[in-house]
Amino acid sequence: MNIVLFGPPGAGKGTQAALLKERLGLAHFSTGEEFRRHIANNTVLGQQIRGIVESGALVPDEIVLAVVRAALEAEDYRRGCIFDGFPRTLQQAHALDELLAQLGRTVDAVVTIEVPEDELVRRMLSRGRSDDTEAVIRERLRVYREQTAPVLEYYARQGKLHTVDGNAPIEDVYSSLAELIIPLTATS
Ligand code: AMP
Repeated sequence: MNIVLFGPPGAGKGTQAALLKERLGLAHFSTGEEFRRHIANNTVLGQQIRGIVESGALVPDEIVLAVVRAALEAEDYRRGCIFDGFPRTLQQAHALDELLAQLGRTVDAVVTIEVPEDELVRRMLSRGRSDDTEAVIRERLRVYREQTAPVLEYYARQGKLHTVDGNAPIEDVYSSLAELIIPLTATS
C-alpha cells in the first residue's frame, strides 16, 4: 500500500501522516523532514539545499528523487509508505510511478487535504519553523499553486484522487482520512 498525502504547505500532512502510519503500519516518508535533517546536520546535501529551502522554492527534482530512491531501498519501506510532501511536480509524480513499478508496486491512493489559504498562513506563522516567515510562506503557496497543484489533475485522471476537508480540528481530519483510507487497505 502506497499512499500520497497531498495538499498545500500548512495543510497538516505531516501531523496526519504521523498519526496514520501508526494505524496503518506503514512507513512515513517526508521529503521536507529529510531535507531539514540534512540542513541541521550540515551535510553536503544540506549545504546544497539550505538556501533553496529557506527561500520557499522547490529543491531540484534530481535531488528529491535521489533521496526518495534511497528511502525506497530501505527495509522499512517494503510494506508500503505514506508519502508526505512528495511528489510536488509532475516530473516527480512520473518518476514515483516508475520507481514503484520497478518494485512491482503502484500509488494506491492520493488524498488531498484542503484548507483555505488564510488559515494556511495563520497555521504556518504559528508553528515557527525557520522557513515560516510571512514572505517565505507566500512564496511557498505561490509555488504550490503553480508547480504542485497540477499534479492533482494527473492523479484525478487515474481515478486515484480523494479529497478531505482539512479546515477542522486534528482529530476530525484524522477521522475523515482514516474512514477513507482504511477500507482501501482492506481491499488491496
Ligand atoms: P515541507 O516540510 O514538505 O513543507 O517541505 C519544506 C521544504 O522542503 C519545501 O518548501 C521545499 O523547499 C523542500 N521540499 C520538500 N519536499 C519537496 C519536494 N517533493 N520537491 C521539492 N522540494 C521539496
